[in-house]
Amino acid sequence: RAKRVGGACYQVYDRSMHTQVVAQLQLETDLRKAIERQEFTVYYQPIFSLTNYQIVGFEALVRWQHPQRGLMNPGEFINLAEETGLILQIDWLVLHQACQQMKLWQEELVIPESFTVSVNFSGKQFAQANLVEQITRVLQITDLNPSFLRLEITEGAIIENPEAAIAVINQLRNLGIKIYIDDFGTGYSSLSYLHRFPIDTLKVDRSFVTRIDNDINSLEISKAIVILAHNLGMEAVAEGIETLQQLTKLRELKCEYGQGYLFSAPVNQSEATMLIISQMQNFQGE
Ligand code: C2E
Ligand code: MG
Ligand code: MG
Ligand code: MG
Repeated sequence: RAKRVGGACYQVYDRSMHTQVVAQLQLETDLRKAIERQEFTVYYQPIFSLTNYQIVGFEALVRWQHPQRGLMNPGEFINLAEETGLILQIDWLVLHQACQQMKLWQEELVIPESFTVSVNFSGKQFAQANLVEQITRVLQITDLNPSFLRLEITEGAIIENPEAAIAVINQLRNLGIKIYIDDFGTGYSSLSYLHRFPIDTLKVDRSFVTRIDNDINSLEISKAIVILAHNLGMEAVAEGIETLQQLTKLRELKCEYGQGYLFSAPVNQSEATMLIISQMQNFQGE
């Protein structure tokens, strides 16, 4: 009897495995087509100063407008994109769109010199041989001054080949592009050589911010990251601020910037434009 149950379980498991594999293959086919069909779009999440609550820039976040499934978040396809290498093309698309949009905002609206856009780059992308040339080309095509661009990379992107990463980051810095370390605290940073990376900003991972208010360890880790950033001459951005209590804690820690649902979720291009416009009176008062 036990054997029969076991057998049945095995079959169910097998069938669901099969369904999963088919679904995965379908998604992969769709993902390849999505690039030609231009189904990717960029959402923008505002990053706020935690001292005066002004928007200082946007983080560009990819979305996939799937013909059947609707608007998909990166969580549903980014791993597959990494595995298949399609992430390279996606990252370029996002960079291109974000630079183009930033240029448009500069031309059409009166925005401060300090207003920037940050773009996420996968570790794979960061290891590309002609990365700096390609970025330079996108900036030329879109006619955006490099000083308005930020690149977000994770600890993983630099840890594999630190010497190569330092060289690339230096070249990018020379162009005027600043570097953020994303999801800081979740990777494998070697603190011993963090100071050798010409990095501008550490982003405190959302997992710490979420619990900052009721978990002493998360509070201590957040505090340590902000202090580390400041001691190394960097600034800190907190990700995923959802409550006033979290905001208050981060302000106490002297974290400079923050983003999260408390302020705004990522929004589409026209909503982002409205966010800028609604702040324009303040810009002019600066
Ligand atoms: P990330 O770079 O750490 O981006 C922050 C993520 O947290 C975004 O998810 C954002 O929507 C979400 N978030 C922001 N505030 C809150 C909040 O208050 N609460 C909660 N629960 N979530 C919040 P999203 O857009 O789904 O992106 C997920 C991840 O996918 C990103 O994490 C990034 O690692 C990756 N990603 C997004 N766009 C790109 C891209 O163009 N290229 C690459 N390589 N990766 C990307
Ligand atoms: Mg990011
Ligand atoms: Mg992040
Ligand atoms: Mg994160």
